[in-house]
Amino acid sequence: MASESLKNFSGLETPGYVGFANLPNQVHRKSVKKGFEFTLMVVGESGLGKSTLVNSLFLTDLYPERVIPDAVEKTNQTVKLDASTVEIEERGVKLRLTVVDTPGYGDAIDNTDCFQSIIQYIDDQFERFLRDESGLNRRNIVDNRIHCCFYFISPTGHGLKPLDIEFMKQLHNKVNIVPVIAKADVLTKKEMQRLKDRVMGEIKENGIKIYPLPDCDSDEDEEYKEQMRQLRDAVPFAVCGATALLEVKGRRVRGRLYPWGVVEVENPEHCDFIKLRTMLITHMQDLQEVTQEVHYENYRSERLAKGTPMPKRNASVDSVDSDKALQEKDAELRRMQEMLDQMQRQMSLQKQQGQA
Ligand code: GDP
Repeated sequence: MASESLKNFSGLETPGYVGFANLPNQVHRKSVKKGFEFTLMVVGESGLGKSTLVNSLFLTDLYPERVIPDAVEKTNQTVKLDASTVEIEERGVKLRLTVVDTPGYGDAIDNTDCFQSIIQYIDDQFERFLRDESGLNRRNIVDNRIHCCFYFISPTGHGLKPLDIEFMKQLHNKVNIVPVIAKADVLTKKEMQRLKDRVMGEIKENGIKIYPLPDCDSDEDEEYKEQMRQLRDAVPFAVCGATALLEVKGRRVRGRLYPWGVVEVENPEHCDFIKLRTMLITHMQDLQEVTQEVHYENYRSERLAKGTPMPKRNASVDSVDSDKALQEKDAELRRMQEMLDQMQRQMSLQKQQGQA
């Protein structure tokens, strides 16, 4: 089952197919059939290829009306958050995907505060969930919490930048961070390995917690275990994005055409795009669970520790209950009043009869 889901992992992917219909376990499949909600955030300096990658990942144009600001505009701009939602359906399986982009990140001259609005956005979604969860209509909550954050690292630096380190440190307790090295095609194989090692070293040195790929169950087949090992070894995923379909040796491939050849986005020999997509698709449920059990719980306990009043659990149920009690009291009072009126009527009747 599990290895079936990863059929295309080592070979070439069929263009036009994302692959979320082939999810690894039955429980997952069930929830996906009902319709699956997932929110992905992409963070990184502008121009690193975030939009291209997201469009290539989900084979859709998430930003049809995107306007790119010029340098002067960028200098004064603060980070904006842009949520775009698409519904993708594959073999009857629906995915409601929201991608939250963070234009303006790292663009200003002074970037000290540039993650504040991102932190605020993540917290706002937790707060909204907390409120909805305490309300009446708990079955129909729309979960807008960020389940995963792709953090884009520049391929041209010599490792992480101070801003990268600061961002990840500030956010690792709030969201599942998956580091990716952008524009993998600009580095040779050797340079890429060096950069990957350096990035992982710096992540460790700085005590940054990135999303930990869960361990395989011992009863999984060897092929699946091997594929998971390969996924783990590929972190930080070095990716290329392209939306163009090109013809290479009679095959239609998604790629970038250079004077010396074509970089095939979905060719595992060229970059980790397929690995990143496989990781995302096969771990969607785990990413949601970690969001619920670790990050959301962190938020709740922080709220408690700060002493900010928490929305009362089932507050509206309580108010409905007290309304009901009041109505019952009213009805009882009305009944007593009626009895009293009846007794008075009887008494005055008896009085009249006595006088007669
Ligand atoms: P964003 O600002 O981070 O969303 O970046 P865009 O997706 O708009 O891409 C910025 C530029 O980089 C565009 O000219 C893209 O064609 C180019 N680009 C996108 N992905 C890649 C890639 O993987 N490799 C290379 N070399 N260029 C890319």
